[in-house]
Amino acid sequence: MALLSAEALILDVTDLHDRDRIVTFLTREHGKKRGVAKGARVKHSRFGGQLQPLAKVVVTWFEKDGRDLARISTVELVRTAHAIQTDLEGILLGSYLADHLLEFAQEGEGADHLFRLLDSTIQALIAGVDRDLATRYFEAWVLRIGGVFPAPWECPGCGGPFPPEGAILPRSGENLLCFDCGGVVGLRITPATLDFLRRIGREGLPAVAANPPAPAVLRQVEELCAQVRRYFLQHELRSYGVIQQTLARL
Ligand SMILES: [Zn+2]
Repeated sequence: MALLSAEALILDVTDLHDRDRIVTFLTREHGKKRGVAKGARVKHSRFGGQLQPLAKVVVTWFEKDGRDLARISTVELVRTAHAIQTDLEGILLGSYLADHLLEFAQEGEGADHLFRLLDSTIQALIAGVDRDLATRYFEAWVLRIGGVFPAPWECPGCGGPFPPEGAILPRSGENLLCFDCGGVVGLRITPATLDFLRRIGREGLPAVAANPPAPAVLRQVEELCAQVRRYFLQHELRSYGVIQQTLARL
């Protein structure tokens, strides 16, 4: 049995029986972890209010060889994400961010880049950065870290630079292509969107927020990332569907 401790971001909390909870959390060193917080549903539990989605915490847990569920010993709160969960849209956004990492982070493998991405995105949202922009930046970076980001520099079909008119994401595809290689059917990506995709590689979210792109660019980035992500995962993130339905009703 090993006793481990690490800074973590809480991704998901679900009930287990009537006393316990299962907590999924992301660490830099050990990637995604799942553990039981015994007695967490009981009044005056030692876990108190610490088990909140997207909270930054220090977790101490026991691991036993051959068991995929750890036993959580203590959780110390470092930063809550309450400030971004004050309305329905913020709560949905929070679960959407967490959903990405539930899918893209691996168990037991270092996840330094994903940890830093989620940590800095939450920090920026708390500081008041525009939600739409922060979410698009986050989506695109998850694809980058996952190695499935459609390259915005040159066409992988012919190796040539993209023409001044932009690029095309074919309906069944995951890569941006020039119009000669990709045809004209699909999502037409404007030069401004290509520029945004290049910018995020060299600028942090606060810098992009100081000089934000037009709303139309954000819509294209959302559509592009959703298609590439679906292509890679072979399904849609559950929370993305919930957001679409909820916003349609408002
Ligand atoms: Zn080409």
